[in-house]
Amino acid sequence: MTFEYAPAPESRSVVDIAPSYGLFVDGEFTEAADGRVFKTVSPSTEEVLSEMARAGEADVDRAVAAARRAFEGWSALPGSERAKYLFRIARIVQERSRELAVLETLDNGKPIKETRDADLPLVAAHFFYYAGWADKLEHAGYGPAPKPLGVAAQVIPWNFPLLMLAWKIAPALATGNTVVLKPAETTPLSALFFADICRQAGLPKGVVNILPGYGDTGAALVAHPDVNKVAFTGSTAVGKAIARTVAGTRKKLTLELGGKGANIVFDDAPVDQAVEGIVNGIFFNQGQVCCAGSRLLVQESVHDEVLDALKRRISTLRLGDPLDKNTDIGAINSAEQLARISSLADQGEAEGAERWTAPCEIPSAGYWFAPTVFSGVTQAHTVARDEIFGPVLSVLTFRTPDEAVAKANNTAYGLSAGIWTDKGSRILAVANKLRAGVVWSNTFNKFDPTSPFGGYKESGYGREGGRHGLEAYLDV
Ligand code: NAD
Repeated sequence: MTFEYAPAPESRSVVDIAPSYGLFVDGEFTEAADGRVFKTVSPSTEEVLSEMARAGEADVDRAVAAARRAFEGWSALPGSERAKYLFRIARIVQERSRELAVLETLDNGKPIKETRDADLPLVAAHFFYYAGWADKLEHAGYGPAPKPLGVAAQVIPWNFPLLMLAWKIAPALATGNTVVLKPAETTPLSALFFADICRQAGLPKGVVNILPGYGDTGAALVAHPDVNKVAFTGSTAVGKAIARTVAGTRKKLTLELGGKGANIVFDDAPVDQAVEGIVNGIFFNQGQVCCAGSRLLVQESVHDEVLDALKRRISTLRLGDPLDKNTDIGAINSAEQLARISSLADQGEAEGAERWTAPCEIPSAGYWFAPTVFSGVTQAHTVARDEIFGPVLSVLTFRTPDEAVAKANNTAYGLSAGIWTDKGSRILAVANKLRAGVVWSNTFNKFDPTSPFGGYKESGYGREGGRHGLEAYLDV
């Protein structure tokens, strides 16, 4: 039987993108003080989507001052009142989720299937979850009257623009803090739509401020003397620079940084199920996921079987128009990111790992990288050590559980890991020895607002999500 492919594109017209956007400060959209602007493009077509105001130091001053003024009233509200705003935001996100999913897909390049079924439901879930905590903070286990910190400076990356915003803003507001957030330069749009949602929800002005801009805006924001808390998600290099800036101040800091997650497949794992998990682990969001399962550790006796099944499955993935509901692999977020992925993959080949590329047609415009698998990888290879942040899987082998643990832990990072086995006792034994903030068993990339998320080692410190996520925004 042959399978006819019928494209099913989501309608672009459900989202109305203005030709230009301002900064969101003190409840209003405004130009940057020095008039600077930048453009955001759609990575799947290279079409310019809109032009943004680019925040400079004077705008950071204005936004932090607005957040400071708003803090007094916001932190004094009963938790049940703050909860009402958060519930309202959550419901508006749900109501506008089709529009926001299309917007996110246009600005980021990820498949609509993912923005519709993963990003947007999780965004709403985070606001619902933390809304529920706002009037129960005395039961969080941090003492009878935990206090908010003040003004939170939040800097986020481009891989899950709205979801990273939700991870940061929801717990900050629930605990009574006010926020100045800087979205990534390649994906500012959904944060500005979120600003509109804050207005729609009637959120008091100044409680949330959004400053689009580049790294210099983020650097000015985290260095601002009137900021009390810094929350950063992004690369380990920038995270270390921020830690140096914050050192010697009284600001609290949480860092969610890079990863090089190991997905460990034992010989008793059901192969088909494991293959689905491996594919999800490395190709979800084109592998641009901090907790991606980018290293496959497979038990030697099943290596060939697993690798063959994996290549067969990857060959069925559809790469192309991210607005098409059938698309599995969307565009890489930017030309810079594509160059980084290509260069690391070329290095893997030059160092002697065996490169396999999925047979797929690459569109003529936009930034694309076909799913790629490196086999015969050793721990010395760059592709086994460096975070590629793209659809590139490195396959290593092991013989015993102890060797699997040693290899999985042989990384500078410690964010995620996966275990595939039929033996429950083995899951517990191996998971307890893994130095990773999240360990999935017989699944991968499962997220839930009730679970804390965060890393060991160079993957950062502090936890977001769950009850632990409150602590980062409270003096207890
Ligand atoms: P990046 O560090 O280059 O940028 C992240 C954000 O920081 C952007 O908004 C950027 O403008 C800003 N920034 C850049 N320089 C800055 C500076 N000097 N001071 C303050 N802000 C600055 O990272 P990226 O390329 O956008 O994102 C990819 C990285 O993020 C990967 O390493 C990935 O693993 C990591 N990440 C981690 C998590 C997590 O939860 N651990 C989640 C998503 C992404």
